[in-house]
Amino acid sequence: MTKTLELLVNLQDLVNMEEEIKSDNYLTIMKEMLNLSDEEAEKRRQETLKVIKEKKRVIESQLPSDIVRMFKRLMKRYGRAVVPVVNEICLNCSSHIPTSYLTQPGEVIRCPNCGIFLYMPLPEQGQKK
Ligand SMILES: [Zn+2]
Repeated sequence: MTKTLELLVNLQDLVNMEEEIKSDNYLTIMKEMLNLSDEEAEKRRQETLKVIKEKKRVIESQLPSDIVRMFKRLMKRYGRAVVPVVNEICLNCSSHIPTSYLTQPGEVIRCPNCGIFLYMPLPEQGQKK
């Protein structure tokens, strides 16, 4: 996976986490699990959101601005921006992605049909050279 894609995957995780934390459900769970008052739970939520916002900012600063713009557009449209290709299928739109398309080293690849960022889940993940 290229550095850019790695950053995009991390950024997507953060955005999803942020959405989850913003939900009322999260506040309810926090209050029940940690036995917090409304006020305390809300305070924790704001603190966590601040940390996530800062992490997002750091990642975005490492990415080219056109990629960040595209990322945001995809998140808005699909609720995700980076998906793996499994058995040559784009997991966002189910269109067929030829293997040749995926073997350009160092390139950020986008689905020719839906435009989402694609990555190949590596079978040898965890192995570092
Ligand atoms: Zn697609």
